[in-house]
Amino acid sequence: MVWVLVCLLPLLAIALAVWRAPLLVWLVAGAAWLAGASWVGAWSATSTSIAIGAWVVVLGLFVVAPLRRALISRPFFNVYRKILPPMSDTEKTALEAGTVWWEGELFAGRPNWKRMLDIPRPKLTAEEQSFLDNEAEELCRMVNDWDTTQVHNDMPDSVWQYIKDKGFLGMIIPKEFGGKGFSAFAHSEVVTKLATRSSASAVSVMVPNSLGPAELLLHYGTDEQKRHYLPRLAKGLEIPAFGLTSPVAGSDAASIPDRGIICKGMYQGREVLGMRVTWDKRYITLGPICTVLGLAFRLYDPEHLIGETEDLGITCALVPHNHPGVNIGRRHFPLNAVFQNGPNWGKDVFMPLEFIIGGPKMAGQGWRMLMECLAAGRSISLPGSNTGMMKLTAKAVGAYSRVRVQFKTAVGKFEGVEEPLARIGGNLYMCDAARQFTAGAIDLGEKPSVVSAIVKYHITERARLAVNDGMDILGGKGICLGPQNFLGRAYQQIPIGITVEGANILTRSLIIFGQGAIRCHPYVLREMQAAQDGDTTRGLKVFDNALFSHIGFTVSNGARALVHGLTGSHWVGTPDVAKETRRYYQQLTRFSAAFAFLADVSMLTMGGDLKRKEKLSARLGDILSQMYLCSATLKRYEQDGRKAEDAPLMHWAIWDAMFRAQNAFEGVISNFPNRFIATVLRRMIFPLGRPYVVPSDKLGHKVAALLIAPSETRERLTRNTFVDRGNEEDPVGVLELALEAAVASEAIEAKLRAAQKAGKLTVRAPDQLIAQAQASGVISREEAGLLARRDELRAKVIRVDDFPQDFGIGDANAHIRPADVVAPSAEPVAA
Ligand SMILES: Cc1cc2nc3c(=O)[nH]c(=O)nc-3n(C[C@H](O)[C@H](O)[C@H](O)COP(=O)(O)OP(=O)(O)OC[C@H]3O[C@@H](n4cnc5c(N)ncnc54)[C@H](O)[C@@H]3O)c2cc1C
Repeated sequence: MVWVLVCLLPLLAIALAVWRAPLLVWLVAGAAWLAGASWVGAWSATSTSIAIGAWVVVLGLFVVAPLRRALISRPFFNVYRKILPPMSDTEKTALEAGTVWWEGELFAGRPNWKRMLDIPRPKLTAEEQSFLDNEAEELCRMVNDWDTTQVHNDMPDSVWQYIKDKGFLGMIIPKEFGGKGFSAFAHSEVVTKLATRSSASAVSVMVPNSLGPAELLLHYGTDEQKRHYLPRLAKGLEIPAFGLTSPVAGSDAASIPDRGIICKGMYQGREVLGMRVTWDKRYITLGPICTVLGLAFRLYDPEHLIGETEDLGITCALVPHNHPGVNIGRRHFPLNAVFQNGPNWGKDVFMPLEFIIGGPKMAGQGWRMLMECLAAGRSISLPGSNTGMMKLTAKAVGAYSRVRVQFKTAVGKFEGVEEPLARIGGNLYMCDAARQFTAGAIDLGEKPSVVSAIVKYHITERARLAVNDGMDILGGKGICLGPQNFLGRAYQQIPIGITVEGANILTRSLIIFGQGAIRCHPYVLREMQAAQDGDTTRGLKVFDNALFSHIGFTVSNGARALVHGLTGSHWVGTPDVAKETRRYYQQLTRFSAAFAFLADVSMLTMGGDLKRKEKLSARLGDILSQMYLCSATLKRYEQDGRKAEDAPLMHWAIWDAMFRAQNAFEGVISNFPNRFIATVLRRMIFPLGRPYVVPSDKLGHKVAALLIAPSETRERLTRNTFVDRGNEEDPVGVLELALEAAVASEAIEAKLRAAQKAGKLTVRAPDQLIAQAQASGVISREEAGLLARRDELRAKVIRVDDFPQDFGIGDANAHIRPADVVAPSAEPVAA
């Protein structure tokens, strides 16, 4: 009996922890256990009374709030205030910007799946659908990568005019200002479609609709600025660009040396209060052709002309391109992409305070403005454009794999080629799900800063993988550039998405978990804010509350991770979802609890050091990211109507992501600085070993098969890809025709082979073979025609371009900027 009670104790503790029982329940349960031990004779009545008394006193300390605050929380509070690393205003602003959405549930260890499934699916209005089917389709027809990159080195004037006239540049501008007033989802759909055809059109359209003058004006502009600029931006009468990056400040954009000094000066014949701005920017998209330049610089008021503060902080202004002193016009050449991108600079350029976005009252508010708007842009433009490139890869490379024959077999049927094909298909299914899920969040009014970093990083990385895989499958056809190459330019340009809007290494190492831990954690931000509260009594009260909730949260997640690990999470409840996905919800709940526990133990043991331990922080972010991507994938599967034909794509994506998440857990635990804690963590998180393996070869085979044959699933997967249908001179248009012909002729081909084996056909040359087969009645005239047509289309598909020997020879010195236009150095100034 005594042993039963002893064994019962840890079970009781785990059960209470799993259910996050209030302290009072712990108190009563502990006392009941002690009384039970006395009743079975484990110890005397006196010992029992002493033990219960001690238990009540100890737990009482925790239960009675004033006592707890005075004796326990205060010392912690004092130490925490001392060790909390000082945070600059820019860091604080970045951390506090945006909202917490579904990722908050994943971070908290107990995701409410019903809530996720209830999030409405984003939909296009009739007007948006029509724009996608007509204007966007037409724009795709008007451009192609070869013409823009090689012939025009830009988009032709007629294309630019079409973009302006049809309102592509004003998709996010409300109708009242003459824009389209489209949803974030519609914007994402348009960019995705354009990117399946030409990166120049996708980038030139997405940038004005993303983080830039229009977005900033909409949120912070004065009425006058809105009335002046928005209708002109919507109609393309103004081309916007936004300059933040400088030669010395790239990723660390808050430390830009560009500066403005408040002073008086002449503007339009009058003396006005303004600022003398010196800047040197580079990499600015649309910069060389912009008519209105958004500029970020640090503003100083050394003579106190507008207030007491000298260093006002980062400020955003809108400067007309022809304002005296603005230098603009040259361009960079980013990996053969021809969207306009270049440097601009100015020295002591006087401009009135009215140029500040939002007017003088917004001086110094630029960083907050940029951080608040970043989430929306980052959730749409790069996820959209990179999913577009993946769609093109899946559609065209899938078809090519069936059309291209080696060793008398379509290359897509070789196991070695199936592997990259499966990666392309599975990754695309997941990325498109995440793109749609996240754009839908923006339309619901969210500004999810952590999620936007997740989709930006993971979609651009997986797109790079997909395009790389596509290039490997294409072989020489992918390497030789020319009008017949449909993927080479995407391959060249894919690193651009990796670099911009938060370079990927930085985003993974510093932002996803670094920001996620503070923003998404239910208690950490509250604890930090309480510790920084000037009113220490109020701060201690909030801190105490958050600290004890935090402890309960960590203990509970640890217990739940262990129990789910031991039970294989079979007992986790799920909402009414497809039978074949139930286990994934259960395993994700398990991973979520384990992640929340691991994150807390990491923060507790490493504190501020975790920020510098970027490899651990990156892997923690990977776990959160994979769970987010899995959520989006499961949601997509439900929304698409649980189609059995699509299931291999969903299964492949989830197995791959769960395996990656598991590896990330392992990466954190294996490298955990404290080896004893690492051992305990491993035993708690994977008590029976690691459940996930890579997606099986069988599954990979099914996914690859979906890419190399026409089907509804293939259409759904590559929906919104531009195909110049019926155009045999277009490299993707001809591929679709050739795919159909290849599939249709396979049965006829089999007849030929059988006849050859039986000795009925004696010639070997393909054209003669078809003629002999027809003449000897092995195949009909129609069948012979089909084979001939297939061969004709296949010949068009596999052809590559060649050029005269002096092709491409030009002015080798065009890159050197003349000495008289070298930008001024914008050294930081002492205000
Ligand atoms: C084609 C193109 C278009 C662009 N358009 C614009 C635009 O319109 N407007 C604008 O203002 N800017 C623009 N940019 C600038 C872009 O945002 C920057 O390139 C980006 O911020 C990275 O800066 P950097 O290239 O100087 O890299 P660096 O900051 O020098 O980074 C070098 C490497 O170090 C990594 N790194 C840096 N810090 C850390 C860290 N703490 N932890 C881990 N890794 C770290 C980065 O991830 C990167 O891999 C554009 C850039 C390009 C290439």
